[in-house]
Amino acid sequence: MDYIGGRGFAARILWEFMPPGADPLGPDNLLVFAGGPLSGSAVNAGKIVVAAKSPLTGGYGDGNIGSLFATNLRKAGFDGVVIRGVARRPSYIYIENGRGYVLPAEALWGTTAGVCERRLKDVYGKGSGVICIGPAGENLVRYSVVLSQEGRAGGRPGMGAVMGSKRLKAIVAIGDMEPPLAEPREVKRLFTESAKDIKGKEGYPFWVRQGTMMTIEWSQNASVLPSYNFREGVFEYWRMIDGYSMEAAKVAQRSCPICVMPCGNVVRDYEGALAELDYENVAMLGSNLGIGHLGYVAKLNRLADELGFDTISLGAVLGFAMEATERKLLRDGIEWGDHRRAEELVVDTAYRRGLGALLAEGVKRMSEKLGGGSHEWAMHVKGLEISAYDCHAAPAMALAYGTSPIGAHHKDAWIIAWEVRTGRFDYSEAKVDKLIEMQRIRGGIFETMVGCRFPWVELGFNLEWYLKVFKAATGYPITFDEYYEVADRIYTLIRALWIRELGGWSVEMDIPPARWFKEPLAKGPIAGSKLDYEKYLWMLRKYYEKRGWDERGVPRESTLRRLKLEYTIQQLSKHVNIQP
Ligand code: SF4
Repeated sequence: MDYIGGRGFAARILWEFMPPGADPLGPDNLLVFAGGPLSGSAVNAGKIVVAAKSPLTGGYGDGNIGSLFATNLRKAGFDGVVIRGVARRPSYIYIENGRGYVLPAEALWGTTAGVCERRLKDVYGKGSGVICIGPAGENLVRYSVVLSQEGRAGGRPGMGAVMGSKRLKAIVAIGDMEPPLAEPREVKRLFTESAKDIKGKEGYPFWVRQGTMMTIEWSQNASVLPSYNFREGVFEYWRMIDGYSMEAAKVAQRSCPICVMPCGNVVRDYEGALAELDYENVAMLGSNLGIGHLGYVAKLNRLADELGFDTISLGAVLGFAMEATERKLLRDGIEWGDHRRAEELVVDTAYRRGLGALLAEGVKRMSEKLGGGSHEWAMHVKGLEISAYDCHAAPAMALAYGTSPIGAHHKDAWIIAWEVRTGRFDYSEAKVDKLIEMQRIRGGIFETMVGCRFPWVELGFNLEWYLKVFKAATGYPITFDEYYEVADRIYTLIRALWIRELGGWSVEMDIPPARWFKEPLAKGPIAGSKLDYEKYLWMLRKYYEKRGWDERGVPRESTLRRLKLEYTIQQLSKHVNIQP
């Protein structure tokens, strides 16, 4: 109950069993696949967390992925899988009803994610659950991901590269056992009840039509749509890539398993091949690159899914390369909006050819190599590229990126909608409180129970329901306060893990790039807006205080003891002076 499952399980395993200072791409790093008590049993909980020390950031990395692999793993009798070492030759793991086998994968090595999965399903049947990597993971691209079911992806901070470094191409799971549940009938009843409730919500029909693609219009109206490497929050061709353009091109709908509100929008790209779109990938591979044609964006997205890239980081890397070309820091680079050159570079990056070898390293390392003041517009925090919300006029969202436990990702606290609605220009303690509440729910509850947040976030599904199903699944009642303490424990443990792995800490690690503080927006209704550095620091210090961390962002001894993390003190003391 101290860590629950998913992210909590992964962070604890990494602290305990990974040698401090392990090479992220070496044999000592651990690749953890961790389900939670809801995995495979509750609505929208066909998901699993994948975590490891990140080759992109050098700190803790994780993500979650919707896949039959998640549901089948539990049916095969496992809550998770931990992989250590390096295989002598390309391999895959086959798991069936309580047993696992390591098998040769020479015939799969080099294939795209889609081909790899289809070949394994030909062997093990359509009902088998497969997760795998593409060529980008094999070639250790630092922001490669783990993929499944032609469009599902997880593990932004290079979990695909960690898998590739172990020469592990795929894992297949099959099982016909029932996941162990304290009250199986009650879990089933709650499933039926929640599915009916969700499908009856007012926003349901529109969600099924557009899914997260509806956010393009919202972001444009709110001036937060990343455009031209986050220079601007509005894009002149936004209508060409919005949810309605997507609807006109839509040919099918996909979803994670046991989902009752599918959001995978499948369109044809400009060459006629199928691609799955969502807000993040369309914004980062569209407006952020100056590409205003959905068919072009779809092609880039298809390449990313086949080759195994995180689409957010890929969009940030290409945007950075376009700006570096404009500023003459990069020769033979890429111009804004050049989708054909972008396609070439995506393929070259997957195989680390030519300029692709530099792009494979991610924005932070590219900036360090190119110099010329590019660190000011290298859009990342802690080395992880920023996801698709511009923060020139959104200090709480900037703080969410600054303090996310994996680097600049919106998963833990998508506070921007609330912030835009309630007063986007304020710097207040109320915003810090709201941010921590969101991190506790999204990064704590959902990442440890392991389920999709969208019923609650997008349709207003009752959060209390998750505590009910938790009790029915595990037999243990839990209150929000108790769960928040678990979330706080995991956040502080992850911070300790970062400090241990980086050998220290500085406040700069929690601050977003200079662009948002120095270069005001030039276009749109809030032109002239930019963040205030001193006020951001004030909010960050408040955040530290409320988390029980000192003014450097290092957990205090009293906090570590209160959260039952005494076991971290000895190792942390080697790197930082821990304050009482
Ligand atoms: S809403 Fe979307 S992300 Fe969530 S479970 Fe369904 S398909 Fe997956």
